[in-house]
Amino acid sequence: MTKPPQIPFFNYPDVFVTEEEDLVSIFCDVGRRGAFILQNEVSDFERSIANYVGVKYALGVANATDGLILGLRAAGLQPGDEVIFSSHTFVATAAAIHFVGATPIPVECGSDHLIDPLAVKRAVTLRTKAILPTQLNGRTCKMDILQNIADQHGLLIIEDAAQGLGSLYKGKPTGSFGAVAAISFYPAKNLGCFGDGGIVLTNDERLYGTMKLLRDHGRDPRGEVLLWGMNSRLDNLQAAILSYKFKKYEMIVTRRREVAVLYHEYLSNLKQLVLPPPPNIDPNHFDVFQNYEIEAERRDALKANLAEHGIGTLIQWSGKPVHQFLALGFNQKLPYTDWLFERLLMLPMNLSITDEQVKYVADTIRNFYS
Ligand SMILES: *Cc1c(COP(=O)(O)O)cnc(C)c1O
Repeated sequence: MTKPPQIPFFNYPDVFVTEEEDLVSIFCDVGRRGAFILQNEVSDFERSIANYVGVKYALGVANATDGLILGLRAAGLQPGDEVIFSSHTFVATAAAIHFVGATPIPVECGSDHLIDPLAVKRAVTLRTKAILPTQLNGRTCKMDILQNIADQHGLLIIEDAAQGLGSLYKGKPTGSFGAVAAISFYPAKNLGCFGDGGIVLTNDERLYGTMKLLRDHGRDPRGEVLLWGMNSRLDNLQAAILSYKFKKYEMIVTRRREVAVLYHEYLSNLKQLVLPPPPNIDPNHFDVFQNYEIEAERRDALKANLAEHGIGTLIQWSGKPVHQFLALGFNQKLPYTDWLFERLLMLPMNLSITDEQVKYVADTIRNFYS
């Protein structure tokens, strides 16, 4: 009998070894020039991402969490302010709000797993200053509805676009909706580097100027310190690697969408599952499938069964939405999100997985339910 194939949820070595020769030569090139901090590679990469997303300004930062903190600080968020976000997000979204002294207010997501605009509306108080939607799983929220709510109440929108590079809503790119947006280049993200990295995007010259100072100790180009800043620069070496990988970004998105089509073909008639919408079904959305997040009956048993068959899956955020981290002081009751988190599971979705392996994952799921 043949051993079942090992299909990890994400193959970390693969992102290096499949392009090892090119990557080593980038390392040598940057290293021999000693170009480690804020050199051309960072500004070139910033320009290509700004062009791609269609915004005026981009700033490479150490990670997307820092990017959100920079954005919220530059936008003037303060203690006493409330910021509304979806509890189905990484704790980093809430932490960024916390670290500018504001109060994170988690709300429910909808059946699309993205922030529920109605829940946002209900959570607005006199103290609300901003909405921080997460463009989760490579899908963009209903930004026009959120913008209407923001306009009605005079709120800012800051996008957690960590998972959203390349995703569109009604033809407009994620990262171009909010006053500021942050994108992550964590290795497992659609565009990943070899460590931590992120970028913040804005069309607002003033916000850009402030974030640029905040990123580098509050210093202007002459070294004069104009405000309290932090050290949150994107490494020049990571920027060089990211520029190299970004050249293939079209292909990366296309392949992820192909994998989503295959999962949909093999699994859409299983009544025990709820799948993400397949690509091309809804003209309002262009999804980049950072994750393939399904809902499954008997989720834990399915996850265990897949593991027995050599298939790695993941429940996002270690299985808990943010409001369930009671140590952080949340007391909100979010019954829909609680219910959803008994059902959520992410199937392998990456550039390493082959068509055959996708079929094997699907067959294993079908066998489990039959
Ligand atoms: C990855 C991620 C972050 C954090 O990004 P880092 O670059 O690791 O700081 C924040 N929010 C969401 C939704 C993410 O997926």
